[in-house]
Amino acid sequence: MSKWFGPNNEQFACKCGCGLCNPDPQLVLDLDEFRDEWGLPVIITSGSRCAKHCLDIGDEIPSFRNVHQPAPSDGYTKAVDIACESARMRMKLIEFFKCKKGYRRIEVTNLHVHVDRGVDNVAQDVFIVNWIVEHK
Ligand SMILES: [Zn+2]
Repeated sequence: MSKWFGPNNEQFACKCGCGLCNPDPQLVLDLDEFRDEWGLPVIITSGSRCAKHCLDIGDEIPSFRNVHQPAPSDGYTKAVDIACESARMRMKLIEFFKCKKGYRRIEVTNLHVHVDRGVDNVAQDVFIVNWIVEHK
């Protein structure tokens, strides 16, 4: 049972208002553990995205990369964006998630950190950190 985040936490819901909210249960548990270790609020700025919302924001659908959409294999959304504008929190997020099984990708922007479990449960044999500057 998660202490900070539950699967129906509105932070994980699609931003278009359609009600889609189905984060990967392991992702929720890991975020909960991170929240405990970090000791400060952790804000999810993007969780599930429906196909319509993906189109609206110019994201690819469906694609291997678009892990905000429910994955076809088990129907869970495999990625979140975590609000993060401090170097200290970025380092903590990278250190935390690189040690967790199943995470394949971390994307760091000036506004958030994206963590991505991918669409299957393959071992963590691909792990990359991208740096992207976004405009507010
Ligand atoms: Zn939606």
